[in-house]
Amino acid sequence: MQEVPLSIARLLRFGSTVHGTSTVSTWTGEGVRRATYAEVGSRAAQLAHALRELGVTSDQRVATFMFNNQEHLEAYLAVPSMGAVLHTLNIRLFPEQLVYIANHAQDHVVIVDGALIPLLAKVLPEMTTVRHVVVSGAGDRTPLAIPTVQVHEYDELIAAQPTTFDWPEVDEHDGAALCYTSGTTGNPKGVVYSHRSIWLHSTQVCMTEGFGLTDNETVLAVVPQFHAMSWGLAYAAFMSGASLVMPDRFLQAAPLAAMIAAERPTFAGAVPTIWSDLLRHLDADGGDVSSLREVVIGGSACPPSLMEAFWDRYGIRVVHAWGMTECSPLGSISRPPVTAVDEDAKRAYRITQGRLPAAVEGRLVGPDGEVVPSDGGSVGELEIRGPWVTASYYLDDDPDKFDEGWFRTGDVGVLTGDGFLTLTDRAKDVIKSGGEWISSVELENLLMAHPDVIEASVVGVPDDKWGERPLASVVLVEGAAVDFEGLRSYLGERVARWQLPERWAVIDEVPKTSVGKFDKKVLRRRYADGELDVTTLV
Ligand code: ADP
Repeated sequence: MQEVPLSIARLLRFGSTVHGTSTVSTWTGEGVRRATYAEVGSRAAQLAHALRELGVTSDQRVATFMFNNQEHLEAYLAVPSMGAVLHTLNIRLFPEQLVYIANHAQDHVVIVDGALIPLLAKVLPEMTTVRHVVVSGAGDRTPLAIPTVQVHEYDELIAAQPTTFDWPEVDEHDGAALCYTSGTTGNPKGVVYSHRSIWLHSTQVCMTEGFGLTDNETVLAVVPQFHAMSWGLAYAAFMSGASLVMPDRFLQAAPLAAMIAAERPTFAGAVPTIWSDLLRHLDADGGDVSSLREVVIGGSACPPSLMEAFWDRYGIRVVHAWGMTECSPLGSISRPPVTAVDEDAKRAYRITQGRLPAAVEGRLVGPDGEVVPSDGGSVGELEIRGPWVTASYYLDDDPDKFDEGWFRTGDVGVLTGDGFLTLTDRAKDVIKSGGEWISSVELENLLMAHPDVIEASVVGVPDDKWGERPLASVVLVEGAAVDFEGLRSYLGERVARWQLPERWAVIDEVPKTSVGKFDKKVLRRRYADGELDVTTLV
């Protein structure tokens, strides 16, 4: 066969010609600004010329500090295609982490949304390798005025540039994009995606056994481009011709509902917290979401109650997916196999984290380091390998995460013989009570299905007798009475007695990480510092 590199430039050429009439629509607050993929292709070429003039001549890192929008898509396409590396900075990280990441990656240019200038300005003076900042959209530029950096206007910079670019032939194994994990322990670690890994991953995203994208779909990409590459949606859109709706900075339930009603996407992807906010909004204020065929929920465990509520009340099928930055990020997706005929059987599959596709092999490793069987019952830490799973961290060593060619995910669960994964916890969140493991996720999902509970988080806290015991912190529906006994007996009908939490607290909100996941560290610390008003049931 011919040796043809699987490159982003090839994807860009294909999407902007064959699917030249597909569109990217960016929400402005009242409506959208729209561009065709042909226009995006021309502007990506212009951006590449402009970046060459700013000294991006080889594999320099070009960072983005942006929401999901047209210009971010242009950067996604232009930067890797010209042979440089796109580095998506997570705008929600702590300033120290942002500085660490930009310096570690040695970012040369940062492209920033005008609305994010105040955030970038705080950290820019400490980003020692950044020489150019390119600003897109409205916002006061003054805070960016520092001696080491030249500030440019995105539209002005690209305006006079040619609309075609002689994209260099890259090695498909070269780095195309760089993303850092949010660093739950220690410093964030970088994962470099190659042109080849992005190409192969995009194919999976487009497949029916993926997100099933075609040029007949319109994708609402809520999941940020600054986190885990927006689940591959941007590249998969250029591969499939699916149009994109980008929410920009409007990520709250009300504007999302308005966007859905106006732009009529058929497909969407976001983390559970965004969807549960949207569900509450729709229940309270209504809204037309009838265009949505399917929404993929992942990033943390999707409560089955959320899936059912969307199906029962809005006819929207929620598809559960699991992934992580280290695997591009799609790891598994939950579509019931054809053998599951009745609704109960289908439901049993839907609530799992899904099936690992052909390219992602998985195995479970028990506490003693032995591989345990994939029999639907044996529990272990999930290890994976495949062409879009990282083989190392960028200029960083973390030998604990790699096990003879397998990547250790830190997620604990079971695998079935037919390839379905059910996660019970993250290794560090499992509650280890007297030699038994209690799944915090299972307790949370059950509690969140209770009509009085909006959100629930369960963490292990030190216990003299058992080592660790569960503490349940719940956010109650407005006006609901505090009835821990009632919640406990509700759980008692669903899980073994020894798993029932003794310690309970009501909180205003479950603390979230930079990417909207439950931040259990914060709850453990609040408990340790005596900040929670804990009731102990005996
Ligand atoms: P981090 O949260 O560590 O910054 P990622 O965003 O890459 O990094 O998150 C990956 C982790 O998110 C997985 O290892 C897993 O613990 C969790 N996760 C992702 N999807 C799911 C899911 N569907 N169910 C449960 N956990 C999930």
